[in-house]
Amino acid sequence: MTEATTQVERKTFRNHVKPIWCPGCGDHSVLACLVKALDSLELNTTDTAVISGIGCSSRLPGYMSCYGMNSIHGRAIPIATGLKMGRPEMTVVITGGDGDGFAIGGNHVMHAVRRNIDLTYIMMDNGIYGLTKGQVSPTTPIGYKTKTTAYGAYEKPIAPLEVVLAYGCTYVAQAFSADMKRLQELIVEAIKYPGFSFINVISPCITYRGGSQIYKDLKPLLKPIGEEHDVHDWDAAHKIARDKTHLHVGVLYQERRETYQETQDDLKHRAPHAEAISVVDIAMKYR
Ligand code: SF4
Repeated sequence: MTEATTQVERKTFRNHVKPIWCPGCGDHSVLACLVKALDSLELNTTDTAVISGIGCSSRLPGYMSCYGMNSIHGRAIPIATGLKMGRPEMTVVITGGDGDGFAIGGNHVMHAVRRNIDLTYIMMDNGIYGLTKGQVSPTTPIGYKTKTTAYGAYEKPIAPLEVVLAYGCTYVAQAFSADMKRLQELIVEAIKYPGFSFINVISPCITYRGGSQIYKDLKPLLKPIGEEHDVHDWDAAHKIARDKTHLHVGVLYQERRETYQETQDDLKHRAPHAEAISVVDIAMKYR
């Protein structure tokens, strides 16, 4: 935290802009929970950034009063990574949808996870491309009729929790947008967690994925992860992630592993007198 930013009076993370999401969209609740979480952490708005890609849910940074960017489709992670590298003291949160994160941006997830960059990724999973009016997405269930799958989706959907666990994510959780108390708690925990933290938020698209009935359909499937679950047990976490009979809500997995920033600090410590070679030096040498 810089001297200049500590002197800025912190107000709230919500700005005055009215969201244009459809009434009843789960993203309204996610925005409210993220604002409450950041407010409760008493962070400065000038030391916080929310970065997104493209999609309905990626509009979220526009409704916040901290730094932010509604950036390029699928590229929220590299942009957030660059910001975190340049300003490691900042709190950087990524928000976006399942299409943005696990279709065009899917490649970035594995590298951010394996590097364990200290970022929090809140993925709003609605199983559809909402912004472009209802095409099949990477998490659309088999059989669901969309604008591009008139006879029902036929590709096996991605399971985000299983994917990030397999990549080695150090904090993995799932939430439901309508369970705002739990979602807010999980966001706070994820932001405080050192390393890459991932929350898969089931955030219904009522316009292209089942209307308001979807909330009624999802409710009986919700199952809080019990206290008996050992969050350090990867096999147990993976078993929960694989169980498709319920939507498990809570923390699946936690592991304290060296963050990318910590590895860089260690390198600097181990090679204090090494000659610094800049990217420009290398480019000049091999041009
Ligand atoms: Fe939300 Fe769907 Fe409307 Fe987009 S189209 S704002 S995801 S309800």
